Amino acid sequence: MKWSCSDVLSSAGTPPARDTLVVNENDLIQAIASDGIIRVAGLLSLLMPESGGVGFGVKGLDGRYRLANRMLDRLLCQGSGRVDGRSESDLLPAHLREQLARCDQALVDGAPVASTEVLLPVDSVSSHCLWLKLPILGADGKLKSIASIVHQVSQPHPTTAMQQTLACLEQANQELRRTVVELEQVASTDKLTGAWNRRRLEESVRTEMDRLNRYEHPLSLLIVDIDFFKVVNDQHGHATGDQVLRELTKLLHDTLRGTDSLARWGGEEFVVICPNTRRVPAGELAERLREQVAGAIFPVVGQVTVSIGVAECSLGESWEDWFARADEALYQAKGSGRNQVQLAPAATTADDAQAPVAANFVHLVWRSAYDCGDEVVDRGHRLLFANANGLLSAILSGHSADGVDAQVDSLIADVLQHFGDEEKVIVAAGFPGATEHIVLHRELVAKAAKLVDEYRAGKQGLGDMFQFLAYEVITKHMLGADRQFFPYLRADRPEVTSIQPASSSRQPPWSHRLP
Ligand code: GH3
Ligand code: MG
Ligand code: MG
Repeated sequence: MKWSCSDVLSSAGTPPARDTLVVNENDLIQAIASDGIIRVAGLLSLLMPESGGVGFGVKGLDGRYRLANRMLDRLLCQGSGRVDGRSESDLLPAHLREQLARCDQALVDGAPVASTEVLLPVDSVSSHCLWLKLPILGADGKLKSIASIVHQVSQPHPTTAMQQTLACLEQANQELRRTVVELEQVASTDKLTGAWNRRRLEESVRTEMDRLNRYEHPLSLLIVDIDFFKVVNDQHGHATGDQVLRELTKLLHDTLRGTDSLARWGGEEFVVICPNTRRVPAGELAERLREQVAGAIFPVVGQVTVSIGVAECSLGESWEDWFARADEALYQAKGSGRNQVQLAPAATTADDAQAPVAANFVHLVWRSAYDCGDEVVDRGHRLLFANANGLLSAILSGHSADGVDAQVDSLIADVLQHFGDEEKVIVAAGFPGATEHIVLHRELVAKAAKLVDEYRAGKQGLGDMFQFLAYEVITKHMLGADRQFFPYLRADRPEVTSIQPASSSRQPPWSHRLP
């Protein structure tokens, strides 16, 4: 025999007769509970005005009602019989069944609510009723049952009772939404400092990295670590240490831009994500943060300093690799005396190394991806780019032959100086291809000198000479052959350029390696 929920509810307190219940009572209650019917029935009855004359019921996915109150009986059965165990097809004329089936279908398709107006005979008089259907979802999120709220409305306005019911539902919904926002806030922030926590930061990082990879919006990362924080705790106690963490968070927040995100990564370490920011401006921001902290007086402890590692994310780079590069720069900042900012070099990808050289001869544009991370080599490369641009401007703007000659002389002198500097660096770094690379330099210089002589003797065109100097000697060599030694510089010295604190007399980390 088919069980009826209202049988169970109405017989509460008295054991149900054996002949009307063929399933075990505990199993039955369990089944109703797992369908969510007890929960929803309790909620709905709380929301229903006591004397409002609102019908409500719950039907299973087989279409049969498992639960219905007296008002629903009255609306659907006109005083003869009960809704329980019966379906809307058993109770209503065809045109109403279709209207209600459309509501059911909307819920099956995922709608949070569906409603329709129907004409139902109440006390033999046809009455306008609003029929509201709500889905009851299981723990797995799948539709388990459908709840109905049916109420007579006096046309054209809903009755006060229904308005109250809807207002009540609306209020409950708003409270729920507020609670969700509060819970989200609690789950996203670090309790001590109020900064974002790691989880929230990683969510934001995913979005920003997606933006970088889709639209090439640059993105940089700062890792900020308090120097000798253990000493602060040891000397002044943990509570004072906590106070420093809070003050520092506020100070960082005040210095950052609106678009930057600050998170406490753990302990005395913070992470800042800077959207739309390249490596060098990120380094400048980090330097401002460092200065602000070093210049502040913290209660009880006085001066506190931070070390900061900075890295710009490369296209296609993983979060882990990007973070590791910033972390390596931070490590370098600690190792080089603390209270300073270190920039990780731009990561190079295999694609970069293989990519054909797309030199723009109207104006050579330097990209951070061309940096190898060695201060001397990078400075030389940038200078040669500027030289090539200067020579081109001189040619295009119709400078006198003397003006062009002067530019050519300056370019050749800088090429020689740079090749010499670079050779010392790659030999010191143990680059195995150093000898071949030096031979390549010699060949380029010899060919350039020959071409310049020929140009001066009128045997060579200006365009050909420029093409050779700007393309073969500078761009192609720098972005091609030179890339082979980049990894050796990285392996040898975790390539960092240094932004020194103004007061520091410390030498940059690479200086002792230079001959
Ligand atoms: P370094 O300059 O190398 O970063 O030295 P450090 O002492 O700052 O670094 P270390 O990692 O040795 O010590 C970090 C200290 O931070 C140790 C730990 O007790 C303290 N710390 C971590 N979390 C908290 C916290 O929530 N509150 C307080 N007061 N201290 C914390
Ligand atoms: Mg630390
Ligand atoms: Mg520290």
